[in-house]
Amino acid sequence: MHNILVINAGSSSIKYQLIDCVTGQRRTSGLVERIGEANGRVQHEVPGEAFVWETPIADHSAAFRQMVHGFAKAGTPLAELDVAAVGHRVVQGGSEFHGPTLITDEVAEQILALGELAPLHNPANYSAIVAARETFPDVPHVAVFDTAFHQTMPEAAYSYAIDKNAAEKYGVRRYGFHGISHQVVSQRAAALLDRPVSELKQIILHLGNGASACAIDGGRSVDTSMGMTPLAGLVMGTRSGDIDPGALLHLMRAGLDVDAVDRLLNKESGLLGLAGSNDMRDIRAGVAAGDEAAMLAFEVTIRRLKHYIGAYLALLGGADTIVFTAGVGENHVPLRAAACAGLEWFGIEIDAERNAAPSSAARVISSDSSRVTVLVVPTDEEAEIARQTLEVVAG
Ligand code: ADP
Repeated sequence: MHNILVINAGSSSIKYQLIDCVTGQRRTSGLVERIGEANGRVQHEVPGEAFVWETPIADHSAAFRQMVHGFAKAGTPLAELDVAAVGHRVVQGGSEFHGPTLITDEVAEQILALGELAPLHNPANYSAIVAARETFPDVPHVAVFDTAFHQTMPEAAYSYAIDKNAAEKYGVRRYGFHGISHQVVSQRAAALLDRPVSELKQIILHLGNGASACAIDGGRSVDTSMGMTPLAGLVMGTRSGDIDPGALLHLMRAGLDVDAVDRLLNKESGLLGLAGSNDMRDIRAGVAAGDEAAMLAFEVTIRRLKHYIGAYLALLGGADTIVFTAGVGENHVPLRAAACAGLEWFGIEIDAERNAAPSSAARVISSDSSRVTVLVVPTDEEAEIARQTLEVVAG
């Protein structure tokens, strides 16, 4: 009864992991990609071995059949693995979902209906849920939402200053995302500090391809940089983050249609737009080589990070800890140093040697005299989805 199958589905791919909830150990992980194409690809990994094959994959149901095939291929058929439940990551839970939820037909339909707010994500999550429930009809399925953790934000944090009737009619408000990561990282940071999360004021910086900052007071999200959609806030791989909404109107009046503006801001902006690559490692190398576009992209990224660190220090009335996580946050030593440089007045002092020490463990990178403890804490969204799934199933 201890294995949870965690599903993270997009429109053309499904990532999956089988996690032992007691030990937290990953037994299997895999990726089915190019769903809907003739050259679909499956990668199924067990400790010490990877199985890779290509085959046409018509839809999400076919993708799940390939996943099941992968388990059999690896000599560990799913039927023998005692899967207790399936946990699904769902991007948008709207104002309806405040925590992990057992999926019924009605819940599945609600998730589909929320596709109005997240057209790129929820329809794919829904297709995967339908296909997974067909493939595994005898186990409970649980939805774990990226937005749920932020449902604790006060009204003043989630309201935009627009006409309130229009806001209500169209569902325009801040929802926030990356909640699964912000939640698990804040708990692991508290564990590292050996203090209860309820006592702490925390600023979490989740910096991956997508990036967001979160202000957490006593374990509750009180503000976050992503908004109604994951486009707002920090500079990301291909997303602009904050931009004057008047610029969108200007672009549209200049002749770009909705899809063109969507593509520009979601797919062609951020690091890619400023410096030609969405991969922070390229920007890092460019900065080291003195490339001007890379240097500007880095400076814009750092300036935006400081905006949010400063804003959240003010909102929280100070902080006990600032935590860096995800691909960039966990690995980019100069970025962490630059984001915290000049913040000594706020009691934030990075220790250069600690910051540069290679490690993949949760660790302190501030000096002993720093009033705010700065941490690097690896995120683990799949383990958190498994934990929340088990919580629902165990009642
Ligand atoms: P995702 O949002 O897709 O889960 P990740 O959290 O894996 O993304 O983060 C991916 C980002 O982390 C990429 O931009 C990558 O360049 C960056 N990254 C990974 N390693 C390093 C490194 N050593 N230095 C700088 N950036 C890094």
